[in-house]
Amino acid sequence: MELTDTHTHTWMSGHGTGTVEEVVSAAVAKGLTTIALTEHLPLPAEVDPTGTFAMQPNQVEGYIEAIEEARAAHPEIEIIRGIEVDWREGAEGYLLKRIDPYDIVLGSVHMLSDAAGNHWEFDHPDYLDGWHERGEEQVWREYLRLWLDAVKSKVPLTIMAHPDLPKKLGFPPRFDTREFYAAMAEAVAHKDVLVEVNTSGLHKRIGEVYPGPALLRAFRQAGIGCTVSSDAHAPHEVGRDLDKAYEALRVAGYSEVTVPTRSGDRRAIPLDAR
Ligand SMILES: [Zn+2]
Ligand SMILES: [Zn+2]
Repeated sequence: MELTDTHTHTWMSGHGTGTVEEVVSAAVAKGLTTIALTEHLPLPAEVDPTGTFAMQPNQVEGYIEAIEEARAAHPEIEIIRGIEVDWREGAEGYLLKRIDPYDIVLGSVHMLSDAAGNHWEFDHPDYLDGWHERGEEQVWREYLRLWLDAVKSKVPLTIMAHPDLPKKLGFPPRFDTREFYAAMAEAVAHKDVLVEVNTSGLHKRIGEVYPGPALLRAFRQAGIGCTVSSDAHAPHEVGRDLDKAYEALRVAGYSEVTVPTRSGDRRAIPLDAR
């Protein structure tokens, strides 16, 4: 069945490898029909002091140019110029000023803040202490609050990325999540936002796609469209495990995959029966 990947990164992320051209070539080699480059939007220096969380402001122009060049070189594939934004406390104005150049915007919550305004990347293996300091349930609840704020914000998000990211390092929610997941599904259903089935979690300690089965079912029951993606941080990861994303969608009761287009539209790919 048709393959698309709407969440990928390059060396410009500061923690990945491969150029835009290499990512697009890998997508073409795998027979994908749509590829979205979705580099991390530059963060303020105080949030990304090491410059390894996101693209640097002086790289944005080169990123956009490289996508234009890849479009000219590869007319056989639809290349979407995307960006992944870090939602965090008070970031709305910052994001609104910077997302205009992009065809699609992925909304992500990767960090929580404390009262002093320090940011903590809860999905970074070097900063596990924060989990023990706050407690697992508290981390999840704080994440949910920020995630809902992002969905309800004025930022025109196309896709909510890896919706249950906090589980990544082996911290699945160990409490009753029914209300939690219902709130996520309801918020997304009220906006014109998609969610993604992101296969990168299969290669992390949690070993499953984002979102897990119960959350994906909640999205399905709320009628929310889903994209599929690898969240590749290297060319060889482009399009990885898309069959597993399709299987997760089938299990949740989906009959189609949604794909954003360059023009801001959407199209549907029917999920083949197994
Ligand atoms: Zn992300
Ligand atoms: Zn990403």
